[in-house]
Amino acid sequence: MKPKDFFHSVGWGIAIAALILTVFEAGQITWERWLERKEQINRKAIETAFDRRIFVFPPKSQPLPPDYAVFVLCYHDFSDNPQKWSITPQRLEAHLQTLKALGFTFLTVSEAVDLLSGRWRNSLPKRAVVITVDDGFQSAYTVLFPLLKRYGAKATLFVYTDWVGKRRGALTWEQLREMVQSGLVEVASHTVTHPYPRRLKRSLSYQQYRNRIKWELEQSKKELEQRLGIKVSGVAYPGGQVDGTMKSLAKRAGYLWAAVINPEPMTVGFDRYAIPRYGVSSDTTVAMLKTWVTKQPIQLARFGGRGKKATKTGEADAISVNLPSMARNSRR
Ligand SMILES: [Zn+2]
Repeated sequence: MKPKDFFHSVGWGIAIAALILTVFEAGQITWERWLERKEQINRKAIETAFDRRIFVFPPKSQPLPPDYAVFVLCYHDFSDNPQKWSITPQRLEAHLQTLKALGFTFLTVSEAVDLLSGRWRNSLPKRAVVITVDDGFQSAYTVLFPLLKRYGAKATLFVYTDWVGKRRGALTWEQLREMVQSGLVEVASHTVTHPYPRRLKRSLSYQQYRNRIKWELEQSKKELEQRLGIKVSGVAYPGGQVDGTMKSLAKRAGYLWAAVINPEPMTVGFDRYAIPRYGVSSDTTVAMLKTWVTKQPIQLARFGGRGKKATKTGEADAISVNLPSMARNSRR
């Protein structure tokens, strides 16, 4: 072979090798790209399916009749010598028995919120009622709790944290823990010190008022959650009153709902940060309770209860309910 031909052949060899390498490299790149693209497509499909499941198709819920209502009752204390905002243990039992006889299902406030927001996946109760108890009196444990067990009822307790375990007649953290663990009791906030907004406004500037309410709402939620190991969803404003500032601060503090005192049923389209409750007082007889929960004319049911005649009628009704377990509950 002539040197010229030799170099010619080597040149061609190099050129062909370079071409093969280039083609191979390009092939590699294309293959990787193709795999990457395939993975992207897969990922997208999974995400889309996930989005659909979580966000596009909400969990199936029970269709609610437009006039469906939940009645939320607000109790305070149960005592043999009732004051304005307390009733006797006997009357409490008569209330529970009456509600049971009328076919009511007992829910917590959070359950009622879920039900009326279309997030209820159990069968729809024919009638639903919520027992709530404000402040944190020990009678919630000594009187109400045994009755909840006996009647298969539930309740939501609103406690203000500064009072728990500190004074005679107040619930202790152990009692609250036991009730929470029973699954019959939801514990929610009633602030830290139970300040009445109207009184605060008289002595504080707007900014001071705002800061104080913010602290009351945030701190009580934090303490209840830490001490009881629960998630606190709601709050009842002290005195059952609310203003725009409190509503927006409750929302910001992470509450999902808040309760007031206002004698109306909770219906579809309810205001989450002003859930109405019927204030049960020493005047709230069984007859009056029936009037509230069967949506009969409401002249006897106004908040604050007035009218001797109504009370007498109710007493007769309450007495006619003969309860075998009353004697056991009359002791506190
Ligand atoms: Zn209160």
